[in-house]
Amino acid sequence: MKKIYRKVLHKHIPIFKDVKDEDWNDWKWQLNNTIKDISSLSKIITIDEKEKEQLAISLKKFKMAITPYYAALIDENYIRCPIRLQAVPRIQELIKDDSDISDPLHEDIDSPVPGLTHRYPDRVLLLVTRKCSMYCRHCTRRRVVGCDESGFNKECFLDAVNYIKKNKQIRDVIVSGGDPLTLPDSRIEYILETLRNINHVEIIRIGSRTPVVMPQRITDNLVNIIKKYQPIFFNTHFNHPDEITEEAKIACDKLTENGVPVGNQTVLLRDVNDCPFIMKELMHELLKIRVKPYYIYQCDLSTGISHFRTSVGKGIEIIENLRGHTSGMAVPTYVVDAPGGGGKIPVMPNYVISRSDKKLILRNYEGTITVYTQPSDTSSDCGRCNICKNTYKFFTPSEGVATLLEENIQNLNRR
Ligand SMILES: *Cc1c(COP(=O)(O)O)cnc(C)c1O
Ligand code: SF4
Repeated sequence: MKKIYRKVLHKHIPIFKDVKDEDWNDWKWQLNNTIKDISSLSKIITIDEKEKEQLAISLKKFKMAITPYYAALIDENYIRCPIRLQAVPRIQELIKDDSDISDPLHEDIDSPVPGLTHRYPDRVLLLVTRKCSMYCRHCTRRRVVGCDESGFNKECFLDAVNYIKKNKQIRDVIVSGGDPLTLPDSRIEYILETLRNINHVEIIRIGSRTPVVMPQRITDNLVNIIKKYQPIFFNTHFNHPDEITEEAKIACDKLTENGVPVGNQTVLLRDVNDCPFIMKELMHELLKIRVKPYYIYQCDLSTGISHFRTSVGKGIEIIENLRGHTSGMAVPTYVVDAPGGGGKIPVMPNYVISRSDKKLILRNYEGTITVYTQPSDTSSDCGRCNICKNTYKFFTPSEGVATLLEENIQNLNRR
């Protein structure tokens, strides 16, 4: 169905009534006017006395910031509004669950230099700021995000760049934070230019939630900068179809129409999107604005977000409702980011029912069981092509389960 995208208007909201359209559409105005306290928030949405009291207590622990744009998207009359749940703190944030961990993904521990996490051999996560335009209530990085909003630390960044220069196997750098797009264009350009000048860095990714919470940030100027340092991939973070507005669509269009592919990483959140229907609708709406669903994350074990967690079964149920039932393009990979820094582990329904030497018994999305007969001769003649020779040059035989499967490993070592 063709969708009429909602435009987020502000004239009906008392405190934004006199804001000029050109200010409202200016990301710097949005960023400078984020809602950080209860009295401003209560001028936008109704908050009863009890909620106010609870809000005051939770604000002592974790910072609040909501862009005027995202706040105006809240459905006032709906206490379970998915926008509200992601933006407005609740008293449950103070609960310390037994399973809570401050840094569940060991991002600080697996960090050879501050702000850089090197978990996988060929790619790194680079945190260039701790500031975000909105502080998502479910943020996995809440231990650091919003703690100091000083922005970009050049010394730290250059240490990270040096590390990347020295480690020639790094071919993919993910620029994240906080939200890197809270930094001014000149900084973004400096970061991208510096990374692009490292010979072995093949691709750069930008992780930013601004298309969702501050779409005004995706300006022509920013896109022109990004274009100069291609190939760059952009990953954003839509969690609910209600977030896909006219403004969000325009922001994503700007990126895709300038050759920057946009992907989406959703977090599975209780009461926000823990429903196969909502998720399917979200994936469809994303594709309609040319955003490719990339991951659904199981909610992490970070402290203060236990009220957002669902069972892993819920995630599997969601994938069961997507795969086969709709376009493969609409099916992201559901992952559990392993506590202790094990990295992302894909989890999905079981499609392989059984197997023997000769046969594989599979089931499809309808539950129909099929038999795939495997070839009797499965030997493969490695001709030692150039790709093989290059791989051997960098081959580190001690890495990963894949090496246990490597039949040629002895041969490779002997060559
Ligand atoms: C998620 C993540 C990456 C990127 O993983 P992909 O599966 O390549 O998207 C890299 N480093 C860290 C530390 C991560 O958490
Ligand atoms: S934008 Fe990302 S880093 Fe910032 S608060 Fe939201 S989830 Fe956390």
